[in-house]
Amino acid sequence: MTDNTLMNIAHIVAKESKCIRAKVGAVIVKNKRIIATGYNGTPSGTDNCCEENNVTKPEVIHAEINAILNATTHDLQGAQLYVTMSPCTVCAAHIVQKGITTVYYSKRYTGNHDGIPYLKRHNVLCIFLSQSNLEPIMFNNPKRNNKFDDFDERFDSTFNKIKNTQLALGIFWALVGMAKILAIIYIAYLVYNYATMP
Ligand SMILES: [Zn+2]
Repeated sequence: MTDNTLMNIAHIVAKESKCIRAKVGAVIVKNKRIIATGYNGTPSGTDNCCEENNVTKPEVIHAEINAILNATTHDLQGAQLYVTMSPCTVCAAHIVQKGITTVYYSKRYTGNHDGIPYLKRHNVLCIFLSQSNLEPIMFNNPKRNNKFDDFDERFDSTFNKIKNTQLALGIFWALVGMAKILAIIYIAYLVYNYATMP
């Protein structure tokens, strides 16, 4: 998968967030495979509400940390992180701790705890990917596809019928041709017999 596709996936994951102020999505990739995803929110089973008086509650878990928590069974040494908004310092510390080596982000976090300088100081490659252009997803319309399948099937059967008819006609005309040749030979034989009659 390309970096752009992975960033698009992070953007789709972000839509799952119930937070109002910011919806962030993260995807962890290792050896070109998605290991885990995460989005920002309160712990599962709690109130599912991120803000209080339009201020983000301290218990909201950031997308990056949720993704790391969702990848507990994996060794993240050398993994890549795709996140829709660049990490804060707390997330950056977790990223360094887990040995993630590259962070792709499509929007720079503008708060007081920008994690990018921290990541760079600890040799984590930080790559900006321009705000991903999500193309509308073309869902398969089963009805329409069936129609096309039916059409193809009907077309195939008609085509086969035509082919079979042509084959039958071909054999028929070949037999007619052979009959003609036999008739000519027989007539020639009769003429020869008649001519050589004593
Ligand atoms: Zn964070």
